[in-house]
Amino acid sequence: MDAPRNTTVRGERASSPLSGIGRRRFLQLGAASLASAGLLSACSGKPDRIRTRAHIVIAGAGAAGLTTASRLAQRLDGARITIIDPRARHLYQPGFTLIAAGLQPARYAVSRTADYLPRDVNWIEAGVAEFDPDANAVVTTAGERVSYDYLFAAVGIDLDYDAIDGMDVSLIGQNGLGSVFHSPEAAEATWGALDRFAESGGDALFQRPDTEMKCAGAPLKYTFIADDILRRRGTRSRSELTYAAHNNALFSVPIVSEKVRMLYQDRDVRTVYSHVLKSIDPGARRAVFDTPEGPVEKAYDFINVVPPMRAAHALRHSPLAWTSGPYAADGWAEVDRHTLRHARYPNVFVVGDAAGVPKGKTAASVKWQAPVAVDHLAADLAGAAPSDSRYDGYTSCPLITRLGRAMLVEFAYQDNLTPSFPGVIAPLEELWISWVMKTIALKPTYVAMLRGDA
Ligand SMILES: Cc1cc2nc3c(=O)[nH]c(=O)nc-3n(C[C@H](O)[C@H](O)[C@H](O)COP(=O)(O)OP(=O)(O)OC[C@H]3O[C@@H](n4cnc5c(N)ncnc54)[C@H](O)[C@@H]3O)c2cc1C
Repeated sequence: MDAPRNTTVRGERASSPLSGIGRRRFLQLGAASLASAGLLSACSGKPDRIRTRAHIVIAGAGAAGLTTASRLAQRLDGARITIIDPRARHLYQPGFTLIAAGLQPARYAVSRTADYLPRDVNWIEAGVAEFDPDANAVVTTAGERVSYDYLFAAVGIDLDYDAIDGMDVSLIGQNGLGSVFHSPEAAEATWGALDRFAESGGDALFQRPDTEMKCAGAPLKYTFIADDILRRRGTRSRSELTYAAHNNALFSVPIVSEKVRMLYQDRDVRTVYSHVLKSIDPGARRAVFDTPEGPVEKAYDFINVVPPMRAAHALRHSPLAWTSGPYAADGWAEVDRHTLRHARYPNVFVVGDAAGVPKGKTAASVKWQAPVAVDHLAADLAGAAPSDSRYDGYTSCPLITRLGRAMLVEFAYQDNLTPSFPGVIAPLEELWISWVMKTIALKPTYVAMLRGDA
């Protein structure tokens, strides 16, 4: 996500790690956010509506599904739009990191799916059990067969905690076991665990999986946050923080990886490479990593577990998944990386985390993917020449480097940095304004995106 439309500033709680920041600072934040809002609204423009009687099914009502539904509802006149998702609560996942930093309560990330559904979009509150693209139909978990003219698959990611031997999500928050990704409640419990750990200090482990993942910056930022909190508590000198990278880099974009490496070195965060978490003993506080030299066991006082991630089950086990290549094993959808149109089923688009493309897997990517896919569908429906709308792999990661500072890292398929505010926000500098983007501006922008307004 890259720019806000409006702002909501939540008052600081007395126990907030940022309670030293005063009212004037918050007023400055508001001003900065409003300035960004102007940038965003200057960019919007609405194409003509297309008359159609097509039936369009959207599987998944998360960030990508809702954004697509809003855009279709704005763009099409007379279409029948059906969205299928069993989840009644909407989760603002970029907020999980702030919850796990003690800056927000769990409810900050929770709202209702129904709040974002455009009028006239029919919601089936069930899961998709089967994708049957050869028959242009999906089958729901309630056994209903739903036919479509066009399908948008936006079912996101499965977190595969079971792949880590000994991991028990019911223990998150206890005995030094954290996991920011699981849910808002787990993020809050993770904050509890980090908060207790910071009182005494000790050994803390941070890692990421060796699969594709959503928001690959999140494990890095949580390491920075933990470091900062320990320093503020005066227990950093008694602690050792280790970040275990799954391969030989800290981040997929080399220049960003190097910058994070330098910052970690500066902050005395130890880095180890080619370490993949395989098992954990939450009672004994021990974790085992697969490494090229064989299994390595590490004791910890605090750990943030980031599990392997795969395309959502129904899609992974459907004809929509890649059948060969790097995205096949975890079932990511075989789409054209620039149009998000399925390679073998031209009336199917896959947007959001489930798309098997080299970059993406952020809400920021959704913001740019959904309009492209909708443009291509609209051209089909209008009987026009194919749209020249292209998704260039844009993704963005507001990488918190300490409380009150972040780097707004934006990049695309070629690993090229693509700053939205050149000359204003330097991507690899730790800036207050980038922190404002993440902590205040991002959520209203995200909500505007869901409503098709950003
Ligand atoms: C800790 C964390 C931090 C993050 N930080 C950022 C950030 O700073 N910036 C950023 O841009 N992004 C961030 N993200 C990533 C962002 O939240 C996701 O990329 C985004 O939500 C992807 O949207 P999506 O619709 O593909 O998936 P989701 O929003 O996860 O939605 C998927 C939906 O599909 C539904 N579904 C699953 N299976 C089925 C089925 N079989 N049938 C029907 N429905 C189904 C689910 O119920 C869900 O509603 C973060 C994510 C996490 C977890």
